Amino acid sequence: MSTLRFKMVEAAFGKKPSPVDIPVNRPSEYFGMYVFNREKMFRYLPADVFEKLAKVIDTGSALDRSIADEVAAGMKRWAVEMGATHYTHWFAPLTEGTAEKHDSFIEHDGKGGVIEEFTGKLLVQQEPDASSFPNGGIRNTFEARGYSAWDPSSPAFIVDDTLCIPTIFIAYTGESLDYKAPLLKALRAVDKAATDICRYFNPEVGKVYAYLGWEQEYFLVDEGLYAARPDLLLTGRTLMGHDSAKNQQLEDHYFGAIPTRVAAFMKELEIEALKLGIPVKTRHNEVAPNQFELAPVYEECNLANDHNMLIMSLMRKIARNHGFRVLLHEKPFKGINGSGKHNNWSLGTDTGIGLMSPGKDFSGNLRFITFIVNTLMAVYKHNGLLKASIISASNAHRLGANEAPPAIISIFLGSQLSAVLKHIEESEPENLQSLGGKKGMKLGIPQIPEILMDNTDRKRTSPFAFTGNRFEFRAVGSEANCASAMIVLNSALAEQLKEFKSAVDKRIAAGEEKFSAILGVIKEYIKICEPIRFDGNGYSDEWKAEAKSRGLDCETSVPLIYDSYLTDESVNMFETAGVMNRKELEARNEVKWETYTKKIQIEARVLGDLALNHIVPVATKYQSSLIDNVYKMHEIFPEEKADKLTVRNVELIEAISSHTAFIKEHVDAMVEARKIANRIQDEREKAIAYHDTVFPYLDEIRYHIDKLELIVDDRMWTLPKYRELLFIR
Ligand code: ADP
Ligand code: MG
Repeated sequence: MSTLRFKMVEAAFGKKPSPVDIPVNRPSEYFGMYVFNREKMFRYLPADVFEKLAKVIDTGSALDRSIADEVAAGMKRWAVEMGATHYTHWFAPLTEGTAEKHDSFIEHDGKGGVIEEFTGKLLVQQEPDASSFPNGGIRNTFEARGYSAWDPSSPAFIVDDTLCIPTIFIAYTGESLDYKAPLLKALRAVDKAATDICRYFNPEVGKVYAYLGWEQEYFLVDEGLYAARPDLLLTGRTLMGHDSAKNQQLEDHYFGAIPTRVAAFMKELEIEALKLGIPVKTRHNEVAPNQFELAPVYEECNLANDHNMLIMSLMRKIARNHGFRVLLHEKPFKGINGSGKHNNWSLGTDTGIGLMSPGKDFSGNLRFITFIVNTLMAVYKHNGLLKASIISASNAHRLGANEAPPAIISIFLGSQLSAVLKHIEESEPENLQSLGGKKGMKLGIPQIPEILMDNTDRKRTSPFAFTGNRFEFRAVGSEANCASAMIVLNSALAEQLKEFKSAVDKRIAAGEEKFSAILGVIKEYIKICEPIRFDGNGYSDEWKAEAKSRGLDCETSVPLIYDSYLTDESVNMFETAGVMNRKELEARNEVKWETYTKKIQIEARVLGDLALNHIVPVATKYQSSLIDNVYKMHEIFPEEKADKLTVRNVELIEAISSHTAFIKEHVDAMVEARKIANRIQDEREKAIAYHDTVFPYLDEIRYHIDKLELIVDDRMWTLPKYRELLFIR
């Protein structure tokens, strides 16, 4: 081990957990203390303003500008009392993170001094100079400025000294430049479409909410070791590193005891999350060494998503208090599991009914089946698009590996629910038509237990699994903004439910009884969407062949997967749901292709750099010491004996030569491939070139670097190895 590396490893392994300030109060007492929630609105706003604002939040109606000043004043009074000096519009541009620009509350008071001020105008709308945010060409003309606008459905909160106001970010011409704006539109679309369907069963339903419960997986590494790995630092993943002899084979990490240093980090993270109103609930070790998971109680989708964005930045910050760095990359280490972010998703009514849970009677069960089958249809029709919503340069490493869902979207229903659908599909049309009486109903739809639980572990291999009262979209990446998947899923279901409604209404208009009409359409649907249902092993090669024959999207090239956003079916779906138009979709795809290219470009540069500046020099130095040894052996021993004694070293000398030669040649070739790709103007073509001609070099070169890691004297190797990075004590 090189002396420097040894010191870093020693320091990392010797670190004691940092003390955590544990509040004396119980979580229920400090939960949401940094959030301008209803309780604070009530305390800080005039009664009539509070009522108007509550209505805006509950119904999603537009904010009455006349109350904006008073809301802002109340919000500021609270924030200043809490010690805030600044405010920011907090939004999620298309970069996968969040953006904020802090301004202080200070304004001239006209008497030579300053006062703290915050007006309704500043609360409601701002024009951040955001010309360098990705926009796919939409903001290239100077009149196409962008602005951020308050989303009252997500409460303002305080981080450090800053009041953060959740906002959407759109171009002046109306196109969305972020994730929140289309998400809100998608949620509105699914609310409207699902409410219409619910009224077949219960005319009282006034609103349908989409719910999201995310499970955030992540890795922790010691920050000293992290700093010594330029690849982790610059790309978020290790571009080289031989497997540790022990990694996850013994399955001793999963659900194991949480190391003390990590527990201290988790504790502080949870306390801070609770103060911000994030209802964190579950924490545990994950499968891979140094891998962990955090999950809150599910919430309304828009809020849950803001909370996920917030927790990702909170994790990064708090990890540093404990001498850690958080890795949110989907595949930071080769050979062990990557990280995902399961999106548990369901719909529920304002009357308190979970639409993905079985009901108590015939009508409730038919409602349940209606939503399940329409979800199957939506996912079936848009399976390629759904994959496009979760794919990225980094998540591509995880999908298809034997730990994560395959790069083919299918749905796991489990044997109980599959049996129910089979029963409905096979029941005779006469029975369906004679649904008026109780008997007919029984024939058309079987009894469904109130709790549907398949204990089979098979759902683990499925990207989209029904889990009793919700669907779990398991293909979402750990680093992703969940909104990307949630936009597609909720819009697709909205479109599907609309179609369902017109099919049912047509039958009703032709004289068919309501429930019979619903069952009739469902029966047709069950047959149509059959290909999306798969309860088998999603990791198997047979499934890949089978999925292809079923017509499911099996594309694996990231840039080509993005094409799904621009097919006629997709554009039509987004436009009908009122979520995005073609221009927006085209712009967003430009951003996706560009981001893909840049990510691979950076990885290629970093790898080339490390290979030539770290790896080859160290290997050559070691090789020289071997050569020296061979010479010296020949000096002290007779020729024949010396030959015999140095035969292994000569082999090593040759091996090092061939590995370093390969590395140098291929780094050169990779640079050449990049040069050619860089000349391409079209973003899509360029991304394809990067995928096809640059990306493959990364693994080829890595293979030889990892071989050298095994050969070269450990004391000379400068980069921390997997066995050091991965085992926090
Ligand atoms: P598991 O690892 O078994 O999937 P977890 O407890 O880690 O389960 O996470 C499950 C997540 O699903 C939690 O965030 C939970 O609140 C959420 N969840 C539970 N029921 C629903 C539901 N009806 N709709 C949406 N999310 C739900
Ligand atoms: Mg889960």
